[in-house]
Amino acid sequence: MVRRPRVVRTLPALQQAVARLRQSRRTIALVPTMGALHQGHLSLVRLAHRHARAVIVSIFVNPTQFAPNEDLASYPRDLHGDLAALARAGADLVWAPATQTMYPPGFATTIVPGGPATVGLEDKFRPHFFAGVATVVLKLFLQCGPQIAIFGEKDYQQLKVITTVTRELDLPVEILGAPIVRETDGLAMSSRNAYLSAPERALAPTLQRVLASCAAKIARGCEPASTVADGRAAIERAGFVLDYLEVRNADTLEPVAAAADAPLRLLVAARLGRTRLIDNVAV
Ligand code: AMP
Repeated sequence: MVRRPRVVRTLPALQQAVARLRQSRRTIALVPTMGALHQGHLSLVRLAHRHARAVIVSIFVNPTQFAPNEDLASYPRDLHGDLAALARAGADLVWAPATQTMYPPGFATTIVPGGPATVGLEDKFRPHFFAGVATVVLKLFLQCGPQIAIFGEKDYQQLKVITTVTRELDLPVEILGAPIVRETDGLAMSSRNAYLSAPERALAPTLQRVLASCAAKIARGCEPASTVADGRAAIERAGFVLDYLEVRNADTLEPVAAAADAPLRLLVAARLGRTRLIDNVAV
């Protein structure tokens, strides 16, 4: 028998539930999500279980990380399905606050991250994004009091930003990264994949194939700059509108001059119709 996790929607109820977990001296791991959960999210929950006695999953579609022209209103929401999936994956508590609980009227505080948040990748195309993410994640940490928090490498720049903010603000939380979970054809799982039409869905794995091919070429000694230039052309030829394909230092996300500046990471963002896809791979 699978047991549905307890869902709390107000701050007093969360504080009470967290106090109870603390009283029983259970290590708490937090998995922040925006819901519409898939196997990628559930892999984070399973990893959380390996590191902590209690797992809190937050489900909150955070308006401050969406620009007015982005997909906040249409972002997929399925709390019922999410709770069924979390019952199977074994979350202890689901924190699903209302927008007004997170951002009461007049809310006026923002964390502005630097470093990996200002390297010209996601930040160039979504300038509002990392301030929204850093602010909501800091709030979630303070609300849930985890010792451990899990983030997916799917959002690689986000993982680096959260790791940096956590370190620089001396937050007592250990950040763990989790590998990207993919569909069998290589497409990185994403809640936004639901937007893809059938022809777009058939084309979407090309992104990962180009990434893998560029990574293999650079690992074999091909020059990084010309390899990603070829990769960009291949992605555009396939019918994507490319935001970026870049090879970067895997830790700082700064540009690299040569393959010797290892470890390297290839990162891509491209649009198919109205769907924006991101992916990345280690070299
Ligand atoms: P989201 O609900 O898109 O905000 O994602 C919540 C968390 O799940 C983030 O830490 C993501 O990086 C992670 N995540 C999303 N998709 C995947 C995936 N395919 N594999 C691993 N982690 C993922």
